[in-house]
Amino acid sequence: MNKLYWLLLLLIHFAAFSQENDVDAFVKGIYGNPERILNAGFAFDELGVNAVFVRRSSLNQSFYNQAKAQGCRVFVEFPTLNGRGYIEDHPEAWPINEKGETVGPADWFMGVCPTDPGFQTYRAEQLRETLGNYLVDGVFLDYLHWHAQFETDQPILPETCFCDRCTRLFENTHAIQIPPSDKAGKAQWILANQEPAWRKWRNSILNTWVEDMGRILKENQPKALLGAFYSAWFPEDHDGALYNTLGIDVPALAERVDVLSPMLFHRMLARPVTWSGDYLDWLDKVMPTPRPLVWPIVQAHDKPGIISPQEFGNALREGSRSPASGVMMFSEQSLLDNPKKIKVMREFYQNK
Ligand SMILES: [Zn+2]
Repeated sequence: MNKLYWLLLLLIHFAAFSQENDVDAFVKGIYGNPERILNAGFAFDELGVNAVFVRRSSLNQSFYNQAKAQGCRVFVEFPTLNGRGYIEDHPEAWPINEKGETVGPADWFMGVCPTDPGFQTYRAEQLRETLGNYLVDGVFLDYLHWHAQFETDQPILPETCFCDRCTRLFENTHAIQIPPSDKAGKAQWILANQEPAWRKWRNSILNTWVEDMGRILKENQPKALLGAFYSAWFPEDHDGALYNTLGIDVPALAERVDVLSPMLFHRMLARPVTWSGDYLDWLDKVMPTPRPLVWPIVQAHDKPGIISPQEFGNALREGSRSPASGVMMFSEQSLLDNPKKIKVMREFYQNK
């Protein structure tokens, strides 16, 4: 190891230490692969950005060092129940629908059976590996839901998972005897006779994932924050699909994380930008005490349609309303596509 290397390490740790005194500062973040912003010639400190939320697959030592040197907290996005890259080689982890069939992709998303022990081990090892390589400010669980597509106004909401393991675990947990049948028969019986217990069990599986990932995080880096990205549907939207299909109960999630990051993608959900503020008003009423932090993620991304710089500015404002103590934006691509959006973000972040 040469002297320059150690000097660099020292500087990074000094920068990290300096930030610890500033953890109460409003979080102003970029989500995705923020290294592309640096590669385009921008600097985070000059943009007013003080936090990056980088996909695990995009994290590398050079970027980590640069982000820290520019005063950013570094949070890692962790693709919790995203099955892509695993189920292709592990058919036993493929979610099963109410017809007893392996379910197809929900648009671009492909989930996984969340009770598959091999997959659980795979994700746990990935998280330990990341925590072994980087001193992070936190880990944000993403794709924390049962197989479905919710980032649209026309969601895809399959019933899963009725694999033999899931139905057996459900039986054991709730002391229920499902009459002998094939997978489809068991699924029909459960939905007709034990639906509330089934939904509750599915939610408990997600909660256990949060607890397990949180335990690994805190065992390895006690100061790091556990965050969660999740669908910002109201509970009554799409006939209760937030709980019934995705398996999410917001108060239960809030009890298990340090930071809630509702995905306030107003355009994807065909909502007015003011909906983001309405959502935060609602969240303010339902969060349990003690409260987690709230750092929403807002949409700048041009899909569907085009988000104007002005609309993006409104999304940042609405998404920063109380109880938010931070905000981040999606995506870095949209900033690179339209320099006026960078200007809007810089003005907002520098004045926040
Ligand atoms: Zn299953």
